[in-house]
Amino acid sequence: MSKIAKEIVRFSREYFRENYISLHRPIFNGNEKKYLTECIDSNFVSSVGNSVNKFEEKFAEFTKSKYAISTINGTAALHLSLFALKVSSADEVITQALTFVATSNAIRYLGANPIFIDVDVDTMGLSYKSLKYFLENNVDVIDDQAINKKTKKVIKACLPMHTFGYPCKIDQIIKLCKKFRIPIIEDAAEGLGSYYKNKHLGTFGCLGTFSFNGNKIITTGGGGMIVTDDEILAKRLRHLSTTAKVNHKYNFYHDEIGFNYRLPSINAAMGIAQLESLKSFLVSKEQLNKKWKLLFVNLDVKMLEPIKHSNPNYWLNTIIVESLKQRDEILEYTNNNKVMTRPIWDLMTSLPEFKKCEHDGLKNSKWLVDRCINIPSSVVS
Ligand SMILES: *Cc1c(COP(=O)(O)O)cnc(C)c1O
Repeated sequence: MSKIAKEIVRFSREYFRENYISLHRPIFNGNEKKYLTECIDSNFVSSVGNSVNKFEEKFAEFTKSKYAISTINGTAALHLSLFALKVSSADEVITQALTFVATSNAIRYLGANPIFIDVDVDTMGLSYKSLKYFLENNVDVIDDQAINKKTKKVIKACLPMHTFGYPCKIDQIIKLCKKFRIPIIEDAAEGLGSYYKNKHLGTFGCLGTFSFNGNKIITTGGGGMIVTDDEILAKRLRHLSTTAKVNHKYNFYHDEIGFNYRLPSINAAMGIAQLESLKSFLVSKEQLNKKWKLLFVNLDVKMLEPIKHSNPNYWLNTIIVESLKQRDEILEYTNNNKVMTRPIWDLMTSLPEFKKCEHDGLKNSKWLVDRCINIPSSVVS
């Protein structure tokens, strides 16, 4: 068995000192229980309550966004964002082939067609170069709308994802999409606490979405958030997330089909405590990344590294090995030895639902899928 696999197991045992070592387990060493008790005592455990308002305020403050709108999970945040941008079954939405399935599912919930573009090897996020090539060769701007020459459909949005918390070249992507009149929703589900050019991920596009699933850098059990600086969009998102009920002392009047997507206060109570701990989580994760880096430099193994001007949250550490065979050997050995490691997601274009969708050559995406392994990355207290 390769030395790399053995070293991953040895280091993980020594560092985490746990029987079974997960890729990313949550940690609750702050005010979680206190705030949960307070929330229960208040009786307001559902989506109307102080905790959820406070969590949204604190989240907006942390990311330096004007508005933060909570949702029941990150997938709902994506769905609602696309809905608010009026994406419909007549439209297309650009995203990357290398992403978690939720990104593409959200597009399909609205009946729209995803177009899958390649990622960069150095960020694993949407490739500016590939996007530019696609737009310049396939898209006309007519009446302020991006029209796909082949399908004649409107490309209503572009949905880049910041993979494993490492920023993609979002400023270039924004500039390019502006030229083609395509609004950007950033899937920053993995990017809480990550910055590019000193700006928090999710705050570059017109909307940015986050997830607080159990495996993310902070968790509320399940939960999500949308951030924006656009007052009109913020109001609309809040309205849509609360069944489109028109505010009134006692009447039930809903002025359109809305969603029951707002985060319950009981989850938000945990979110407030987790957010308080986030700074210490980030310190711990950066330290772990340094230790992994040292180990792999000595083994001559490449790791995903932050690009210039980026400060990632180091959510998941990622190594890039030499071949599919080596990848599978390492996955087998480590998982057999109670150290959880994972390959990255199968490309969207290899899933039955997305097989027929338009895509470019996906050269980098295919290369990365065969070689990447996520290794244990939890915070230790
Ligand atoms: C986790 C995640 C989501 C979905 O979040 P949920 O809260 O699990 O619905 C979406 N996109 C990406 C990239 C994710 O990692």
